[in-house]
Amino acid sequence: MQLSKRYDLHTHSTVSDGTFTPKELIDLASSIELSGLSITDHDTIDAYTDELFTYAQEKNIEIISGVEFSSGYQDTGIHLLGYCFDIHNEAIKQFCIRHKERRKDRNRQILELLKKEGMELSEDDLRDAGGVVGRPHIAGAMIRKGYVATFQDAFRLFIGDGKPCFAPGNRFSLEETIAIIHGAGGKAVLAHPILLKKRSLIKKLLELPFDGIECFYANFSASQNGEISYIATKHNLVQTGGSDFHGTVKPHSILGSAYTTEENLARLRHA
Ligand code: AMP
Ligand code: ZN
Ligand code: FE
Ligand code: FE
Repeated sequence: MQLSKRYDLHTHSTVSDGTFTPKELIDLASSIELSGLSITDHDTIDAYTDELFTYAQEKNIEIISGVEFSSGYQDTGIHLLGYCFDIHNEAIKQFCIRHKERRKDRNRQILELLKKEGMELSEDDLRDAGGVVGRPHIAGAMIRKGYVATFQDAFRLFIGDGKPCFAPGNRFSLEETIAIIHGAGGKAVLAHPILLKKRSLIKKLLELPFDGIECFYANFSASQNGEISYIATKHNLVQTGGSDFHGTVKPHSILGSAYTTEENLARLRHA
């Protein structure tokens, strides 16, 4: 029997805060017979090397360029997915460099707040190789130093949104982020709106020129996701899906557990 084509359009690699390298993601995608994959690392497109495309071709996995940008609307952090952009576009590369600087400042702020709570960490403790550094790396360092027992505790007690050692940093606007994605020939998709507490906020966000909305997300049920599909239909937005796979740091989000259909991917490309 011919399976319908499935594309997991939301995954993270070791280039940001996932535990699988980009090549390992392709191996895993191939082993579960996905048709294609987008590696949507946080604020970086460094996974997209020539070598990666060659490897994906060998494994018969279609690669859709992608990124998950952090952004803000009023006091709320909003994640935005960019797809199908030109990976050589200068503006998007520069934007990723600005994000690296923004994160450096923000990580310093978080380290300061942790120090006040008696948890001393240096920037060198956060990670050894390049790539984007964020709160998951800080959580890892807190565990290694013995300040907390688990990843969840680090977020729940200290660095999760609104917790004592959380710092939002200087967020870039949604408008600018969408414009940069569009300028690089890409499509802008609102990431995991199902995680936003306020439904009225989703309505507000969709006044911006989004092309799509992530309707099928991680391990949410069909009925939970259905609510977002209804909003997508009302706003004439393409319905995408992805697992938000991070590897072993988020073991409940399994690769391919949510996906985009061939039809919706075609719609996205032509949006
Ligand atoms: P950052 O981009 O530095 O703000 O870190 C955000 C990432 O941290 C998310 O993409 C998740 O992978 C992870 N994260 C956020 N909140 C939690 C939480 N409560 N528990 C575990 N991981 C979390
Ligand atoms: Zn992440
Ligand atoms: Fe996200
Ligand atoms: Fe994500």
